[in-house]
Amino acid sequence: NKGMMRKEIAFYSVQFDEQMIESEQLKRSVEQALTNDEIVPFFQPKVNINTREIVGAEVLARWITREGRLRSPAEFIPLCEKTGLITELDMIIFEKTLAFLRMNLDEKVPCVPISINFSRLHLLDDGFFDKITRRIHQYNIPPELIEIELTESAIFDNHEIISEFTNQLHQYGLQISMDDFGSGYSSLNMLKDIPIDVLKIDRAFLEETSDSKKQRVILSAIAHMAKRLDIRVVVEGVETIENVNLMKEFGCYIAQGYYFAKPMDEESFGKIYKEGIL
Ligand code: C2E
Ligand code: CA
Ligand code: CA
Ligand code: CA
Repeated sequence: NKGMMRKEIAFYSVQFDEQMIESEQLKRSVEQALTNDEIVPFFQPKVNINTREIVGAEVLARWITREGRLRSPAEFIPLCEKTGLITELDMIIFEKTLAFLRMNLDEKVPCVPISINFSRLHLLDDGFFDKITRRIHQYNIPPELIEIELTESAIFDNHEIISEFTNQLHQYGLQISMDDFGSGYSSLNMLKDIPIDVLKIDRAFLEETSDSKKQRVILSAIAHMAKRLDIRVVVEGVETIENVNLMKEFGCYIAQGYYFAKPMDEESFGKIYKEGIL
């Protein structure tokens, strides 16, 4: 019996070492990917469900390896968050998005806002505001074309600093979007101190449940609250016509989800962006 236990312990520690080595390797290859320009923006349209007009888009990072393999954020974002590489990654995606907007503005495309995910780590950096406004200025982009997506956990972290930060960004003209609303810490409290323009309702709220009456009460309360606070609502993860109908029921009409469009590369998205409609 004792022998077996020892063997198990040995097994776990080998596995642990392997995990360490693996994440070290992953870290190095992400660093390389960042320098070699292998991390690129994909874009997912936000659509008006009644008119199918494109009212915005979210930019999502993808890693295209040198072998041409597409890697999703789940494979590298957590590591980037842990190691701090995320701030560099976000700035790269941000810069490429500004270049995309500049190109479209030059071509006289009637541009709609693009939202960018910024890790909570930026919010601990005093230089963040200057860093991003300097870039926006350099590319000469109207700030209202840029939406900053923050997650609830970011805001929960350090309420006062975040409130000051977001107010500064908002005053500059950027749109503030609360990502994954209702999935995390759910501090409704933040709604009173943070200048939120957009609430993104988490996909979890659309999932089929055994009690659809409860689901409806919750969705209707969020929709009603947002309306009263003059906050726009985007529903994420819209996959089915049932989801769309549920949205209509509550007067939410901006959807982001596979039912309308998946995230796509810059070239494919560029065409849709110019047309302005799906
Ligand atoms: P998120 O910000 O909540 O982004 C939405 C995620 O939902 C995206 O996953 C998108 O592809 C996926 N999605 C969209 N429509 C549907 C749908 O109808 N059904 C389902 N099942 N999923 C849908 P993705 O692209 O894999 O990104 C995952 C997460 O990684 C993002 O979640 C975000 O938190 C993070 N992320 C992605 N790019 C960046 C980035 O540039 N910077 C930072 N800091 N985080 C990023
Ligand atoms: Ca997001
Ligand atoms: Ca989200
Ligand atoms: Ca508003």
